[in-house]
Amino acid sequence: MARVSFPYSAPVSQTLFDRAAAVTPGGVNSPVRAFRAVGGTPRFMVSGTGPYLTDADGREYVDLVCSWGPMILGHAHPEVTAAVQEAVARGTSFGTPGEGEVALAEEIVARVAPVEQVRLVSSGTEATMSAIRLARGFTGRAKVIKFAGCYHGHVDALLAAAGSGVATLGLPDTPGVTGAQAGDTIVVPYNDLEAVRAAFAANAGQVACVITEASPGNMGVVPPREGFNQGLADLCRENGALYISDEVMTGFRTSKAGWFGVDGVTPDLLTFGKVMGGGFPAAAFGGRADVMAHLAPAGPVYQAGTLSGNPVATAAGLAQLRLLDDAAYEKVDAVSARVRGLVSDALSKEGVAHRVQNASNMFSVFFTDGEVRNYDDAKAQESFRFTAFFHSMLSQGVYLPPSSFESWFVSTALDERAIERIAAALPGAARAAAEATEVTA
Ligand code: PLP
Repeated sequence: MARVSFPYSAPVSQTLFDRAAAVTPGGVNSPVRAFRAVGGTPRFMVSGTGPYLTDADGREYVDLVCSWGPMILGHAHPEVTAAVQEAVARGTSFGTPGEGEVALAEEIVARVAPVEQVRLVSSGTEATMSAIRLARGFTGRAKVIKFAGCYHGHVDALLAAAGSGVATLGLPDTPGVTGAQAGDTIVVPYNDLEAVRAAFAANAGQVACVITEASPGNMGVVPPREGFNQGLADLCRENGALYISDEVMTGFRTSKAGWFGVDGVTPDLLTFGKVMGGGFPAAAFGGRADVMAHLAPAGPVYQAGTLSGNPVATAAGLAQLRLLDDAAYEKVDAVSARVRGLVSDALSKEGVAHRVQNASNMFSVFFTDGEVRNYDDAKAQESFRFTAFFHSMLSQGVYLPPSSFESWFVSTALDERAIERIAAALPGAARAAAEATEVTA
């Protein structure tokens, strides 16, 4: 933790946070929102427009979190909003099949070649949980290989050495996950094919699948090294296991076809969430038709959901995906490159050791000298500098993810005025990072 002053108070947010803490554990409904890693009062947001968020104290922020990825077109995009309003007016949930979910599934299948069939769910966690169950059901095997620092939602079997909030809060293990639930999970270092090969050798004939973030963003952005994902696909094929590419974060963000559109490696199953929901709870898993045919009611592996394929969520997701054409990705990639350049220049000017890593338009800033290839490298950064940097940016009206283990997200809505605000805030934040000292007491 750094010694940090909080340049602005946020009295209305603080009052809301106090009320929240009385009725909700830690005052939040998802841990990283609580600012535990950076300290201070989490901002309660009341509205969002384009690249901006406004908090309960009436202060406006340039938003570089974008709801942790989904809001790639910015907030309250008129066409997405109109699609949602039309859907709501027709009724919000029927518990029957509907055309919207067919259209969304068709859009996903059309964009991502390895997806022959897809099942809609309501969260990324459900998507990865269901994909793992399907892989186990299909192969008749129990074990799962995952990577340290990769986060796949709060699925019991996948909480071992996970990234995101688990990394932010420094939780080694999660009480409540039993040995039986995690006992079939093998955790190996990221970007280390030899470790995967050894894990397969030590568990011959027992591994159902390897699950990996297509390009990790939950230990900060740590892209796969050249050939790593292809190596995983090959090892899976050689060993009769399925290769699951978790594209919940990268899907429809890093390109029209997500990370598959970048590296072209063909997984057996893929998971999606975030962008495909347009800001609503919609997620999916899909892939090889012969594997997906094992899902109920076509096959014996059970999976279901009262609100799966919800008409409002599918309308929002479909509207957002249809707006995400080549020009939109060019724009968001260009904006990301500009912001990355500004951040790096400001930190260099103050002599702050740092490394900006990106995967297409996803990026994060590590306060370290060397390349970050895996979770151990990410943990070795000087996170106390991020804390000072974060609060300086926040006080100047720029909202960053409140953790150094998260990706920053930009949107097509990030205009000149917003970029100027970021540029104006950076020198002070870089100075704060340079001057930060670690408090060890
Ligand atoms: N997989 C990845 C790669 C994620 O980044 C996340 C969430 O951040 C999840 C799965 C879980 O998704 P959700 O939070 O919608 O359950």
